[in-house]
Amino acid sequence: TASIFSAIAMAPRDPILGITEAFNADTNPAKINLGVGVYYDDNGKVPLLECVQKAEAKLMEQPTPRTYLPIEGLGAYDKAVQELVFGADSAVIQEKRAVTVQALGGTGALKIGADFLKRFAPDSQVYISDPSWENHRALFESAGFTVNNYAYYDAATHGVNFEGMLAALKAMPEGAIVVLHACCHNPTGAELNADQWGQVIEVVRANNLIPFLDMAYQGFGDGIAEDGAVVRRFTATPGPLLVSNSFSKSFSLYGERVGALSVVASTAEEAARLLSQLKRIVRTNYSNPPTHGGKVVATVLSTPELRQLWEDELAGMRVRIKQMRDELVKKLAEKAPGSDFEFVRKQVGMFSYSGLTKEQVEKLRAESIYAVDTGRICVAALNSKNIDRVVDAIAKVL
Ligand code: PLP
Repeated sequence: TASIFSAIAMAPRDPILGITEAFNADTNPAKINLGVGVYYDDNGKVPLLECVQKAEAKLMEQPTPRTYLPIEGLGAYDKAVQELVFGADSAVIQEKRAVTVQALGGTGALKIGADFLKRFAPDSQVYISDPSWENHRALFESAGFTVNNYAYYDAATHGVNFEGMLAALKAMPEGAIVVLHACCHNPTGAELNADQWGQVIEVVRANNLIPFLDMAYQGFGDGIAEDGAVVRRFTATPGPLLVSNSFSKSFSLYGERVGALSVVASTAEEAARLLSQLKRIVRTNYSNPPTHGGKVVATVLSTPELRQLWEDELAGMRVRIKQMRDELVKKLAEKAPGSDFEFVRKQVGMFSYSGLTKEQVEKLRAESIYAVDTGRICVAALNSKNIDRVVDAIAKVL
């Protein structure tokens, strides 16, 4: 019998999860999934960081009852996040102008921020990079915004179309919400240089745009402080700022859902009002965040030996990705003379827009090598055992 559910259409499949499904169904033991958004170690495994295991052991020495956390999350976590994101000596922390709420990963942080902005800047439109992380558009649309693109990637140079980006920023109406990747652009790997960031900040502030920095890969580019530099440069200029950050990748804690939203206000008093409104959004969505991931991250960040261990382990991940970039470029130069993949070395973070076309990606699939149709590959899914097979297959489809 018909019900109000009878006419509901099937929602479109998530393009990236679709690749994973096809990969899982492939019976070839030599299959390789470059379509993921996850860091794998040289054995092709998701690492369980030693700093995380030690923090968990430490927490288990004195097990605590699982009471509710405050709506805004664990105090020690929020404090540690602020120091990591803004820098421990930041004026916005000293002046109590920054508020931070623990969130369900970077995605949860973006959604709290989107709901907050919809309430207080309801007529603004959102602008995301072309292309951007595939969930940005859907997430801001689901919060009720119209979402537009700004020029970003330049396929001809495999870098940023900076002229186009700056022109787009200049053309945005006052109050527009601009989502910027603070570092390690997903999906392209193409980054602005320091001078270009300066120009972006100038236009954002001069035209009273609302910057929303998404930082899901702090530490995967040039280092923890280096990757956070853009956040600090924004805080050095007056005006609103939202920052979402995620520990999914940097702590390899994907399933624990650890992230945070930080909002910078112009005074401490304004910050207190903002926090009260952020708490209202959290309270009406999921009431308060889970305990485990936040405790682990807070323990690591605030215990000097564990903090050092984390920084070393994160550096290990960063260095391995760079090695894979180097090897990919070198090996492709040998196996596919005439091709030029030098740009892969300049790209930053976990991903590379490889320049492979949809047709070439489809041909790779016939070799049981899976990439995104756009040509995005996860460099962190390459390792010393699979890189030769990947290079041979790419050389074959070029
Ligand atoms: N923002 C960007 C740019 C991302 O790439 C990701 C994850 O892939 C996220 C946000 C979401 O992070 P999380 O998995 O912590 O929700």
